[in-house]
Amino acid sequence: MNVLFNHLPTEELQAIDAAHHLHPFTKGADLNAKGARIITRAKGSTLTDSEGVEILDGMAGLWCVNIGYGRDELAKVAYDQMRELPYYNTFFQTSHPPVIQLGQKLAELIPGDLNHVFFASGGSDANDTNIRIARHYWAIKGKPSKKVIISRHNAYHGSTVAAASLGGMQVMHAQGGLPIPDISHINQPFWWAEGGEMSPEEFGLARAQELEAEIERLGIDNVAAFIGEPVQGAGAVIVPPSTYWPEIQRICDKYEILLIADEVICGFGRTGNWFGSQTYGIKPDIMTIAKGLSSGYAPIGGSVVSDEIAAVLDSDDFNHGYTYSGHPVSCAVALENLRILEEEGIVDTVRDETAPYLKAKWDALNDHPLVGETRISGLMAAIQMTPDKSARADFANPGEAGTICRDFCLEAGLVMRHVKDSMIISPPLVITKGEIDMLMERCVGALDKTLAKLKADGMFRAG
Ligand SMILES: *Cc1c(COP(=O)(O)O)cnc(C)c1O
Repeated sequence: MNVLFNHLPTEELQAIDAAHHLHPFTKGADLNAKGARIITRAKGSTLTDSEGVEILDGMAGLWCVNIGYGRDELAKVAYDQMRELPYYNTFFQTSHPPVIQLGQKLAELIPGDLNHVFFASGGSDANDTNIRIARHYWAIKGKPSKKVIISRHNAYHGSTVAAASLGGMQVMHAQGGLPIPDISHINQPFWWAEGGEMSPEEFGLARAQELEAEIERLGIDNVAAFIGEPVQGAGAVIVPPSTYWPEIQRICDKYEILLIADEVICGFGRTGNWFGSQTYGIKPDIMTIAKGLSSGYAPIGGSVVSDEIAAVLDSDDFNHGYTYSGHPVSCAVALENLRILEEEGIVDTVRDETAPYLKAKWDALNDHPLVGETRISGLMAAIQMTPDKSARADFANPGEAGTICRDFCLEAGLVMRHVKDSMIISPPLVITKGEIDMLMERCVGALDKTLAKLKADGMFRAG
């Protein structure tokens, strides 16, 4: 058997990592100088690093380990599936039991008539597929000029060339000649940062109506679809005002453009319902799924489309597919993950118990001098830090306070991510109330230390 590196001392692992591993979304030189944190194992909501330090994972990996770490059942089905049929393709008029069963299960779980799944290896490539589906759909219907996909600034839809183009992350567009043509971006419904004097409800409506203006500007004959995350995740857990999605839905219906809900984070229980579309009353024509679909235990994603879109697509060749579309091991793991989510009532527990429990504590953070606002939807949440609450001000050097607070969190044994100066969490859906207490204690401790440091460094005005 191949000898794994678990026995090596941390410094040695870090040196080899620095020598041979290029990390995503990282400035390599800085990381290589200090060395990566090496995570060696995990159970439930707790990670253990190579020094034996236990860390509460407030991010469920990358928003994906919904059922928590260490579930043997998933290892077992992966093992069994690898022995039975480790791989076969779905291109050449073939199929296999796990992909057949997963398609049926997803059709049952996903609301409306979204009954047909095109499988991918993750969320980025599923969104690439969505672009091709949306454009091909209109072309088959005799409207090949309908190509533009309208998205939002600060959206995250993945990191392939097409998915990053679809996303609205400036730092990603700044490298490698993005975005590709025929993608346009309207403004996001981020009230705290951009709402000015409007109420959140007025602002939500105004931002949704930018879609209508953009369709008019582009010409309805050129627009294929609108894509949005029910709650923007990587953007900093931006929970839209209540007026936003109903207006977006009205506009998509009025102009008959496809509505794509990117549920890669919101899906599979994150917002306290199975899908964010249910929480926000969205009726998508296409849904992107990944992450929580397998709780991260195996790579898998998909584009789920309506009966009508499937009927149109089925009438022509679709010249598109991935070697790992419907990978049998990933499908088997996803099925077992869905069984656990369902049979253990994990989504109900989030909705009825842990999310309300977290929300009460999270909302109370608004009393903290460093906190401008809190945002929360189910078990995804953000703390907006500010040097001046009443002015809804940004820090002079955006991201600095976030980095400081993130480091204090880690020091206290909590993984919390920062997006500029928002602190965000998205813990495993199986997090217990006791662990939420622990999370809050560590988080408040980090906020206090961050405030003290910002004051000492002259970065906090209102104090
Ligand atoms: C993570 C994410 C993606 C990309 O998924 P990958 O599996 O990383 O390719 C797409 N959309 C949203 C909303 C995401 O959060």
